[in-house]
Amino acid sequence: MIIALDGPAGSGKSTTARRVAHELGGLYLDTGAMYRAIGLAFLDHDRPFTEAAAADLVPSLQVDLEPLADAALAVRLNGDDVTDRIRTGPAAQAASRAAALAPVRSAMLHAQRAVAHEWARGGRAVVAEGRDMGSVVFPDAPVKFFLTADLDARAQRRAADLAARGETVDLAQVRDEIAERDRRDADRALAPLRAASDAVLLDTTELTPDEQVERVVQAARAAQALAT
Ligand code: C5P
Repeated sequence: MIIALDGPAGSGKSTTARRVAHELGGLYLDTGAMYRAIGLAFLDHDRPFTEAAAADLVPSLQVDLEPLADAALAVRLNGDDVTDRIRTGPAAQAASRAAALAPVRSAMLHAQRAVAHEWARGGRAVVAEGRDMGSVVFPDAPVKFFLTADLDARAQRRAADLAARGETVDLAQVRDEIAERDRRDADRALAPLRAASDAVLLDTTELTPDEQVERVVQAARAAQALAT
């Protein structure tokens, strides 16, 4: 079973998705991490964010997600462990710029479906998190949520994440960067950030992580019961 969680930056998707995967004994498919690895490759190779550069660079890139204990993931780019390097502000912006390019989206769509297919073969749930999981990549997923939260709440969460990783953070700057990324993600022509028409909308501004996890787990168990 695929559980699709989408929403803007800092809406609580990652924490919720990882914990739901853990609770259901499933696997966590962090598609943002894949876009971040690709964004990092553009920076590392000093390439502009153009369709032509993407068409040239993307075929040489291999992004792998390696499930670890507690539904955590290691991320590899052409074999190199980039799990920590993809979590910086510049990597997030590069991810969002690369994610608007057709060669990148097409490669990621196929890679994400292949990973989910392989992981789901063992009968385990796959919790797929991103911007277009319910709308484009897994339109038939039986459980779909679209998480939102106030921009201020999202900026505070993201700033806390970055501070916990030892980055120096300026809350106003984090807020501006998130707003810019959301605008770019929502305005792009390909797979824009948008709720699928059959997704459950969940405003997490006032919810604790436990409450978010419970809502999704309940929906997943109900869908599982219907399917058996
Ligand atoms: O979720 P995260 O902040 O790690 O995503 C980084 C960027 O990757 C997003 O801002 C978005 O541009 C892109 N992304 C996407 N489609 C997805 C997941 C992420 O376009 N399914």
